[in-house]
Amino acid sequence: MTGQSEAGSPWRGVSERDWNNWRWQLSHGLREPASLPVEVWGQGAAPDGIARVTANYPLCVTPYYLSLMGQGGLQDPIALQCVPQVRELDMDISCEPDPLREEAAMPVPALVHRYTDRCLVMVTRQCAVHCRHCNRKRRWKRGGDSVEQIDIGRMVEYVSSNRKIREVIFSGGDPLIWSDGKLDALLGAFRAIPHVEILRIGSRIPVVMPMRITRALCRIFKRHRPVWFNTQFNHASEITPESARACEMLLEAGIPVSNQSVLLRGVNDTLETMKDLLYGLQRVSVRPYYLFQCEPVTGAAHFMTEINIGIAMMKQIWRECSGLCQPAYVLDTADGRGKVPLTVHSSLSSGGLA
Ligand SMILES: *Cc1c(COP(=O)(O)O)cnc(C)c1O
Repeated sequence: MTGQSEAGSPWRGVSERDWNNWRWQLSHGLREPASLPVEVWGQGAAPDGIARVTANYPLCVTPYYLSLMGQGGLQDPIALQCVPQVRELDMDISCEPDPLREEAAMPVPALVHRYTDRCLVMVTRQCAVHCRHCNRKRRWKRGGDSVEQIDIGRMVEYVSSNRKIREVIFSGGDPLIWSDGKLDALLGAFRAIPHVEILRIGSRIPVVMPMRITRALCRIFKRHRPVWFNTQFNHASEITPESARACEMLLEAGIPVSNQSVLLRGVNDTLETMKDLLYGLQRVSVRPYYLFQCEPVTGAAHFMTEINIGIAMMKQIWRECSGLCQPAYVLDTADGRGKVPLTVHSSLSSGGLA
C-alpha cells in the first residue's frame, strides 16, 4: 500500500502518477520540521532545539520514505533514521565530523583513494533523504555543491593516469539524484578508461525513493556493465513492494544488488530485527554485504552500539541463518587498515573447535 491511499495521510489526493514520479517525490521533499505530519511530533509542535538541529543538519525526507513510518512515533525505525533529534547537538569529545579522515585522502577534490585497486568518487552532496546517522553529515550544508567544485574531468584524469585502479565507486551524496543523461555520460567517461573493469554505484535511492529506478535508468546501467549496485536497507519495514520492485528491475538488467547496513541503536540492534532484515533481503534477492559498526560521527553518536553487542549478535546469526544471509560485520578506520572485520574467528586447534 502506498502512503497516498491511506486514510488520514497528508498525501491523500495525490495522484498515483505523481506519487510514482521521482521528480515529484524530490520536489515535494519535506524540509521544515513544522511540515512533518502529526504522527511525528504528536499533537504539539516540534520540541525546542529542533530549529537549531536543522540549522546545522537540515531536514530532508521524501513523502514516500516518511509514509513507511509506523505507529511507534519517534521511536519508529523509519522516524529514527529521518526525523531530526535534539541529541544530534550533544557534544561528545570522542566524536569527530570526519572520523574516517576522508577529506585528507582526496588526491583530487571529492575523490577518495584509500585502497589500491578501487577509488570512491563523490559526484554530489545531495541526497533524496538526509539519513540522521549519515557519516558524511559534515557535507550537508545548504547549497552544498557550490561549496566545492565537483570536477568530473579531473577525476577521470586521475583514474586514467593510475593503472592500478580497476574499480570506480560512485557515491555522494547520492549519485542517482543526477538525471539519466548526466549519469550516462558519467558512467561512459569512466567506462572508456581501458584499465577500469568495474563500475559500482553506492546509492540509497532504492530504499528512500524507489521510483527513481526506471526502465530507462536500468537500460543505461545495462549498457555500461559490469555495473554493481550497493544500497542500504537498515530495517525490514523498508522492504516494500516498491523497493523490492526497484531491486528486481536492477537484477533483471543484470546488475547485482548488495546491501550495506549500519548497525544502529534502536533501529536494528536486536537479533530479531536483524534476522527480519537479513531474511527479507534474501527474499528479494539482495545479498547482504556489509554490516557497518556506527562511526563516532559528530551529530550521530546516539546511534552507536557497543561492538560487543554487534559481535554477539553476529555470532548468533552465524549459527542460526543461511550463509547467503551473512553480511561481514566491519569497522571502518581512518588509519591504513581501512575496513576491519569484527567477526570472532573460531580456530580449529588440536582440541577441536575453540
Ligand atoms: C569502503 C570503501 C571502498 C570500498 O571497499 P569494499 O571493501 O570494496 O566495499 C572504497 N573506497 C573507500 C574510500 C571506502 O571507504
